[in-house]
Amino acid sequence: MKLKNKIFFYSTFLFVILVILLSATIYFTFINITYDRELNRVESNAQNILSGLRNETDEFSVIDLMSFYVPNDGMLRIVNQDGQLMSPAVLSGEVPNTLKDYQISFERGRQSGVITHSDVSYGFVQLPTIWRDGQVVYMQVFESLETVDNNLDILKLVLFLVTIIALIPVFVSGKLLSDLIIRPIQSLIQTMNEIKSSQTFKHIPLNKQSNDELYTMGQTFNELMDLLKENYEKQEAFVSNASHELRTPLTVIESYASLVKRRGLERPEVVQESIDAIHLEAVRMKDLTEQLLLLARRDQDWKLDITEIQLNQLIEGVAKNMERVYRRSIHMDAEESIIIQSDKQKLKQLIYIFIDNACKYSDEPVRIELSHGSKPIIKIEDQGIGIPEDSLEKVFDRFYRVDEARNRDHGGTGLGLALAKELADSLNIDIELDSRVGEGTTVILSLNSLSSH
Ligand code: ADP
Repeated sequence: MKLKNKIFFYSTFLFVILVILLSATIYFTFINITYDRELNRVESNAQNILSGLRNETDEFSVIDLMSFYVPNDGMLRIVNQDGQLMSPAVLSGEVPNTLKDYQISFERGRQSGVITHSDVSYGFVQLPTIWRDGQVVYMQVFESLETVDNNLDILKLVLFLVTIIALIPVFVSGKLLSDLIIRPIQSLIQTMNEIKSSQTFKHIPLNKQSNDELYTMGQTFNELMDLLKENYEKQEAFVSNASHELRTPLTVIESYASLVKRRGLERPEVVQESIDAIHLEAVRMKDLTEQLLLLARRDQDWKLDITEIQLNQLIEGVAKNMERVYRRSIHMDAEESIIIQSDKQKLKQLIYIFIDNACKYSDEPVRIELSHGSKPIIKIEDQGIGIPEDSLEKVFDRFYRVDEARNRDHGGTGLGLALAKELADSLNIDIELDSRVGEGTTVILSLNSLSSH
């Protein structure tokens, strides 16, 4: 069953049950009240008849007296202690003769209730009294409640009609309700289908006034579309950047290879130059593809292997290697020996990226400071070219380089800091960049506890 029909069916069904219950309650409450009132009336009539009968003298026959006192449209009869008739029952009005033989389950004492005979209700009251001969007898009074029955039939009809009329707005509101809920969902499905067939990112048109859950759902869908669009565009840019970055070294390699092919035999000096260039570009390409692979594998393979790490030793190890590669002095200051829990390889890779940049973009010695306040802090400081303020945020974007011209000599890929950011996020490390153009750059790494990550 469609959602629209479900909403319509359930809401209407509930309302119908409610209206029927309400009508039934009104009807049965009314019946009870009316019959109670009528029984009270029949009982007080019966009391009057009894006191009348008692006060009469013997000059009238019992039958005459009963004919005199019998209620309109009713019956009067007197029975003994065994429920046997003392005298013939007396009827009046349009009461059927068969009522005379109506058997009640006889009990001594007072009795009252509503009985039904030939589809007519009668109020019945039995009162005990002392008869003329001194024995205890029971006077039974029956009074027709036909008028009450007629009124109740009218009430039944009115309630039935009211129920039917009340169901009309119930049907209409059920339909409106289901339409109101379903319309935005249908629009959502339609937009999704359009997106699927046209392969574009579209927004759902939203009703500005409303602020309900459906509006929030539409809003969330639109935000999701924006996010998907942004990611898709990033992905596209990444692929085109990556292919562009790979094309440059390949072009260099190709042109040097062609040079060696054409002139290699005649001019041996170009061979050495070409081999150097080809080697440099090949190394750059290797770095690039390695970093690309790492970034692409993010989320799937980045499982942490947490061990206890002696931070001073780890940084000193990386610094020593870099000193050898760049033939640069890297000085390290450490207040104390710090032991942390982290992923050794990833932390090493992260520190490597920052020391590598510090060496690449400066000519002076690099300084590393290790301290432990509320948490371990690593500062890597260079006195190099620095990063302009408006580029500070962007340097973490993939393939971003502050200035292609100034960086080309350093042979970077533009992926180092993007990778560092991903590594830092997975290791729960905050990165802060403090840099001034022409003065140098300080990278501050704050190592948060991994258990809260
Ligand atoms: P690259 O491979 O080009 O070094 P990164 O992602 O590591 O790529 O860095 C992005 C850009 O940020 C670099 O191209 C460079 O312009 C700038 N940068 C990073 N570190 C430093 C630094 N210590 N000093 C000056 N500029 C830096």
